[in-house]
Amino acid sequence: MSTWHEYVRKTGSLPAWPYPVNYGKINEVASDVLVIGGGVAGLQAAIAAARMGLKACVLERGHAKRSGAGGAGVDHWHGAVTNPCSRVTPEMYTRACYESMRGYTGTHVRYIITKESWDTLLECEKMGVQIRDVRDEFKGAPFRDEATKLMFAYDYRNRHVIRVWGYNIKVKVYEEAVRLGVNIFNRMMPTGLLTAPGKGSKRVVGATAVDTRTGEFYVFRAKATVIATGGTGRLYDFAPEVTAAASMGNMNSAGAGEALGWKAGAEFVCMEATYPARLAGYGYAPYSMANAHNTYHGTPIVDAEGKEVPWVDAFNRPVKDLAGRFLPAEGQEFILGEGIGISRYLPQYRNNELIHDLPERIRRGEFKLPLYADFTRLPETERRCIFGMMVGNEGKTRIPIYDTMTRAGFDPEKDLFQAPVAPPEGYVHPNFWAVGVHTPPTIRMLGGGGYLVDWDLRTNLEGLYVGAGGNLFGGGCHGESHTTGRYAGRHAARYAMTAPEPAIDRHQVEAEREAAYRAIRQSDGYGWKEINAAIARIMRDYCGQYKSEATLKLGLRLLNELKTTELAHAHAANPHELGRLLECHSIITVGEMVMLASLEREASNSILDFHRLDYPEMDPPEWEKLIAIRLDDGRVRARYLPLDFHLREPYEPSYEDNYRKHA
Ligand SMILES: Cc1cc2nc3c(=O)[nH]c(=O)nc-3n(C[C@H](O)[C@H](O)[C@H](O)COP(=O)(O)OP(=O)(O)OC[C@H]3O[C@@H](n4cnc5c(N)ncnc54)[C@H](O)[C@@H]3O)c2cc1C
Repeated sequence: MSTWHEYVRKTGSLPAWPYPVNYGKINEVASDVLVIGGGVAGLQAAIAAARMGLKACVLERGHAKRSGAGGAGVDHWHGAVTNPCSRVTPEMYTRACYESMRGYTGTHVRYIITKESWDTLLECEKMGVQIRDVRDEFKGAPFRDEATKLMFAYDYRNRHVIRVWGYNIKVKVYEEAVRLGVNIFNRMMPTGLLTAPGKGSKRVVGATAVDTRTGEFYVFRAKATVIATGGTGRLYDFAPEVTAAASMGNMNSAGAGEALGWKAGAEFVCMEATYPARLAGYGYAPYSMANAHNTYHGTPIVDAEGKEVPWVDAFNRPVKDLAGRFLPAEGQEFILGEGIGISRYLPQYRNNELIHDLPERIRRGEFKLPLYADFTRLPETERRCIFGMMVGNEGKTRIPIYDTMTRAGFDPEKDLFQAPVAPPEGYVHPNFWAVGVHTPPTIRMLGGGGYLVDWDLRTNLEGLYVGAGGNLFGGGCHGESHTTGRYAGRHAARYAMTAPEPAIDRHQVEAEREAAYRAIRQSDGYGWKEINAAIARIMRDYCGQYKSEATLKLGLRLLNELKTTELAHAHAANPHELGRLLECHSIITVGEMVMLASLEREASNSILDFHRLDYPEMDPPEWEKLIAIRLDDGRVRARYLPLDFHLREPYEPSYEDNYRKHA
């Protein structure tokens, strides 16, 4: 029998759970460094620790060979400013991020990234990832450096974003981790961080988890722990059939990394920031329709009559020719590039784009729908690079888009590629497949907040480090996640080398075990899908774009009621459902963190897209600061930090001095 339907038709029943189930059985695993989350960042953290001769172990929710947002590949790697062709320095890049975000990004994390991103990419090359045009397919192209054979994106003059053949990057990193003897535990759902015995202990010594196939319980004892679970999806919406959890994200990334740390007393910053969930999945599959953004940057867009849509530079002046789309404009220092996890760009770092009044012009009849990508207007090397090398390596496009279209006969040398047909507002941003018109405006996503870490990427808790893009304030995207994972793993390992043997509090383990299995002891009650949908509804209604003290307090009350009634009495029929219900606890915790942080910011803020109806004044100067929150003995503590806290006491006043001291 080859399909589910066939099985049910023939047997008249659902298949039995295919794994032996042994709820509650305790397994103990000891390691020097425990990494929670086996995405690209997590595997890099484990590799770094293993290379230092330590025993590293990874606790992964899916299967680490291909899991995570980075599991499907990557076509361009950011932040590699120390590559031999780059004209951008770490200071320039870091300053550009800081100024663009008016300070609301973890700029010390950005600096670390720029210092080590290129070295991290070179290590990936050694693992078997192609990062150069070794077959000379693009010889002579303006985006290629003839000496190194590196190829660049966005800014062909300043050359800091590297085009890579990254379809296999996750597999290669996974193989390296396996080769180095990293112990990988797949299909695990963590339930709590373990802290050293003693009331109010601030030393993290591992974690507990449930195997979502066998239901067995795991106690991971470790000298140091790295959180690398990626971002938080499923918070504002839950509709997995349309990948509304986030078509760019990962169904398994449900905020567990944040929830684990929060409950143990870790400090978080900027959790009140949320943005419209452009990539929520109501649009089209990633990069599956014509557009002129990211992977497709520079692609000519024409209307139904073949009329080409003009481009403008960062200062809204016409871009004269095709080459100009890939060069900084007059007055620009360099182009930062899209997809680095910041929401605003100052003009001096912004990309060249399609005209911004395209919606208006469509409404006036100047451009007629549908629009198309016309690759035939590109120079031959650029055409092959975009619809070929880039689409063939970008996450989630190699098989569904590149292979499918190519097999069906699509030829970029003569065919047009259609853009989605949308209301005129759908063309306000060149990323046509994901613009806001497809996603209900009430649906939001987290806006870059995360763990507050120091220059070691250590949290305020001893032994707890953070290494993944989505978990870190200032984390960035693919290359950044490899880089911060590697750096956090190295620092966790350095700490573990001299840290005392971790002792486990058996009462804590028992309490975790008792709580973890509650849902399988109940014979009926709601399932995880209903609970997840209810959380998302509460978040949309009470903590949407506009909020007030009253809505936030009501929202917190409703989340708590949901937790103590429906979720407390929910039912799991098997270990998989148990894992998903445990995730619901995490999602609620993250929802609470967002609402608590939102209550603390008594002002509206344009960069954070934060609107308090009871404090409507936008950007009052006295509120230009970061808010850090943590849980202390059951009470929420908040403190304010200057935007440049990473350059103030106890740190050094310059990026480079801090980096040298810590790296
Ligand atoms: C289609 C697509 C294209 C992209 N293209 C690019 C690009 O070209 N350039 C670029 O810079 N970026 C790109 N990105 C973004 C990039 O992939 C991510 O920024 C990067 O993968 C983040 O790495 P990470 O390790 O932090 O998180 P992830 O790769 O998401 O890994 C997180 C890991 O944690 C695991 N996990 C989650 N919850 C738990 C839990 N409770 N317990 C244990 N494990 C858990 C997950 O299963 C996963 O393995 C793209 C993303 C997508 C989806």
